[in-house]
Amino acid sequence: MNIKNYINGTYINPKTNSWLDNYNPATGEVYGQIPNSSAEDVELAYKSSKDAFDSWSQTTSEVRSKILLKIATIIEERLDELAMAESKDNGKPLSLAKAVDIPRAASNFRFFAHAITQFSSESHESVGENAMNYTLRKPIGVVGCISPWNLPLYLFTWKIAPAIAAGNCVVAKPSEVTPMTAFLLGEICAEAGLPKGVLNIVHGLGEFAGQAIISHPNIKAISFTGGTKTGAQIAKVAAPMFKKLSLELGGKNPNIIFDDCDYDQMLETTVRSSFANQGQICLCGSRIYIEETIFEKFKVDFVEKVSKLKVGNPLDESTNVGALVSKVHQEKVLSYVSIAKEEGGILLHGGNKVNVDGLENGYFMEPTIIELTLNDCRINKEEVFGPIVTVMPFKSESEVLHLANDVKYGLSASLWTNNLNRTMRMTNKIESGIVWVNTWMQRDLRTPFGGVKDSGVGREGGFEALRFFTESKNICIKYS
Ligand code: NAD
Repeated sequence: MNIKNYINGTYINPKTNSWLDNYNPATGEVYGQIPNSSAEDVELAYKSSKDAFDSWSQTTSEVRSKILLKIATIIEERLDELAMAESKDNGKPLSLAKAVDIPRAASNFRFFAHAITQFSSESHESVGENAMNYTLRKPIGVVGCISPWNLPLYLFTWKIAPAIAAGNCVVAKPSEVTPMTAFLLGEICAEAGLPKGVLNIVHGLGEFAGQAIISHPNIKAISFTGGTKTGAQIAKVAAPMFKKLSLELGGKNPNIIFDDCDYDQMLETTVRSSFANQGQICLCGSRIYIEETIFEKFKVDFVEKVSKLKVGNPLDESTNVGALVSKVHQEKVLSYVSIAKEEGGILLHGGNKVNVDGLENGYFMEPTIIELTLNDCRINKEEVFGPIVTVMPFKSESEVLHLANDVKYGLSASLWTNNLNRTMRMTNKIESGIVWVNTWMQRDLRTPFGGVKDSGVGREGGFEALRFFTESKNICIKYS
C-alpha cells in the first residue's frame, strides 16, 4: 500500500514525487511506498499549521478535550486494523500491538484530554504590596514532533496528544521505517473533527524531512525521540535558533537483582524486560547484574525460560519474539554477538538468525544471553537495541552501584530487592530518570518520563509535557 502526506486535512503526494520503499520485516518484502518528503513539503505543512493556529489556540480546553476523546475512541474502535498495520510495518507480535501499542496510543489522547482541563494558570497575591500576579500558560505556536520506529503509534501520539491539547499546531514526522499507523492517524483525526492544519504529518527521511523540521526558523519547539547521536545533531541545529527542545534518547539500562527478591516474579519480569518487542524498547534492561549467591541458579532458570520463547511469525498468536525492524538493524544486532565473544563474553543462549517457516527472508533472531566477567566492554557500554542481554555477578551493593552507573546513558533501571533500606539507598544513587523497584515498565501517565546523562534532556508525561508545549507568561497588576 502506498501512503501520502497528511497536509491541511487531506492526503497529498510529496512535491518531490520521490518515494521510498516500505518493507515488511517478517517477509523481507517491499509492500508499499512512502513519500520521500523535502523541505518544500515541510513548508506546506508549516503554512497549514500556522494558518490553523490562531483559531485552534483560541478554543477552550473543553473543546480540545472533546476532540481528543473522540480520537481515542476511534483508535479503540479500529484496534484490530491498527494493530495489524503496526505489526506488519514493524515486525512486532500482533498480540503485543493489540495489547499494548494501540491501546496506549488511545490512552495518550484520553489522558491529555483530561489533563488539559486540570492544567490551570497560577495566581499569587502580593498582600501588602497591592499587587496581583498571575501566570498564564500559552501555547507556543507551530511545534515539531519526530518519533522513532520501535513503538510507532504509541510514541508518535505521546507527543502529538499533549501538543494539540495545549493549543499548538503540529508538524509531525514518524520514522520512515514504520509510517503506516501514523498515516492512518490522519484520517482518524479528520473523522474526530480535528480542524485541518492542527496536525500535519510529513513522511520521509531524517536527513531531508526531519532536518527541514528542525531547521525551520518558525517551528519553535521540537519534541524528539530517537537515538543519542541524532539528538546531538538536532541540538546543534536547534540551539542557535533558541528552540525549545525535548530529547528522549537511547538507554543502556541496568537490571539489578539481589538474592532477597521475590525470585519467581523477578524471573518472569526479567524475561519480559529483556526481550519484549525483540528487545527494541528504550527501557529494556539489557545489563543484568545478579548477586553472586544466586548467580548460578539464575543462569540456569533464565536460560530455561528464554529457550521456551517462540520466535516466529508476528501474526501468529503464540509468537513471543517477532522480527527485528530491518535487515540493517538485524545485522547490527548480530554483529554485537561477535563483538561480545571477542571481548571474552560467553554465549549462554541464542546468538543466531532464525529461519521461520515460510518467512525465510524475514529478519528474525534468537533471544541471546551473554555471560560477562568484565563490565568494561562494548556490549555493556553501547546501546544495541535488540534481543541481547548480558548477565554478570556482583558481590556488594557498592560494587553493583558502580557497575550500574558506569555508562554514558541514564534512562531507566530496575532493582529487585525486599530490603527497604537498600531500596532507599540504591534508588537515591542510581543515575537514571526512572527507577523501578520489583517491577518493570509500569507506567502511570501522570509521572515524568525521561533520562539523564546521554539519555536526553527534558521530561515528557503528565503536566511536564503540557509545560513543555506551553510558555509561561507572568502578568503583574498593581492596584491602589
Ligand atoms: P533515529 O534517531 O535514527 O530516528 C528517530 C527519528 O528521527 C526518525 O523519525 C528519523 O527519521 C528522524 N531523524 C533522523 N535523523 C534526523 C535528523 N538529522 N534531523 C531530524 N530528524 C532526524 O532513531 P531510531 O533508530 O528510529 O530509534 C531508535 C532509537 O530511539 C534508540 O536509540 C532508542 O533508545 C531511542 N528511543 C528512545 C526512547 C526514549 O523515550 N528515550 C523511546 C524509544 C526509542
